Amino acid sequence: MFIKDIGIDLGTANTLIYLRGRGIIIREPSVVAVNTHTDSAKYVGKEAKEVIGRTPGSIVAVKPLKNGVIADFETTTIMLQEFIRKALRGKTFTKARVIICVPSGVTTVERRAVKEAVEQAGAKYVLIVEEAMAAAIGSMIVDIGGGTSEAAVISMGGIISSKSIRCGGDELDAAIINHIRKRYNLLIGERTAEDIKIQIGSAFPMEREDAMEIKGRNLLNGLPETINITGSEVRDAMSEPLARIVDAIKYTLEQTPPDLSADIIDRGIILSGGGALLRGIDRLIHKETGMPVLVAEYPLDCVAEGTGKLFSNLERYQDAFMEDNRY
Ligand code: ADP
Ligand code: MG
Repeated sequence: MFIKDIGIDLGTANTLIYLRGRGIIIREPSVVAVNTHTDSAKYVGKEAKEVIGRTPGSIVAVKPLKNGVIADFETTTIMLQEFIRKALRGKTFTKARVIICVPSGVTTVERRAVKEAVEQAGAKYVLIVEEAMAAAIGSMIVDIGGGTSEAAVISMGGIISSKSIRCGGDELDAAIINHIRKRYNLLIGERTAEDIKIQIGSAFPMEREDAMEIKGRNLLNGLPETINITGSEVRDAMSEPLARIVDAIKYTLEQTPPDLSADIIDRGIILSGGGALLRGIDRLIHKETGMPVLVAEYPLDCVAEGTGKLFSNLERYQDAFMEDNRY
């Protein structure tokens, strides 16, 4: 069997690969572990994420899409090609059509770089679409990823108004790290910060606020130390980046023509991306915008699933395909 249609969600935190007829078959963190002596990639995806912060000096973990941009093109290419190889498991990848979703903040140069990377992996036709476009066809979608968040109003298969900011889940983690450093003189790692966010973090006051014991390194005496923090404290720590995400949504609503605004009042705002899983984020956005807010059923899968829908509607998108392949 030849693989013909492949959808790729190239996220700053996670990369997903969708094979038409099979569904999502790869879900891996966008991480590569590189050996600095030989400059070669040692581990990709899940395996690489496991070695972050635990590796000997010569192996460093790289997030090639740090901060919502392709910080390291070569590593992005290696990672993409490895995921594609894994997804295809030896099957032929010639004449394949690939739809690849990137954060809409990426530059034209970066788009072209991504396209080349996929072509080098053997794709014949490559269409680059913006994440939000694949996540929802209709109404307003807000995708909160690792390095970026985007709000977009989509109508008739086109983006009417949108705003992409380089602030997502990673910024929430960074805000937690900062808070704990300032308040407790305690240094914690990125993985701990993400754990705290997922376990006790929230964007809106909860009926039950949890607390958590965390371990880090005391900055004054250099020794390991354990402290207790509460959910409401974590929420306060994250308030600044959360406000920036809310502002991007408000800005997008302001740019939307009145008739479409009326549709959004009826249909609501749909949240996708891993950040949609932050507890209370829907309530925060509802309070700030007055719009009904729904979290997508599988927020982490929306974009990759959306590529499948795009393939099904390909006749309508054929022009876009041709356009993108003119470079
Ligand atoms: P990207 O599209 O940039 O790869 P994702 O949509 O995969 O990003 O989302 C990754 C982000 O979602 C990370 O910052 C991660 O910490 C966050 N995330 C995942 N699960 C949760 C959760 N349960 N609560 C809060 N944040 C979460
Ligand atoms: Mg994403």
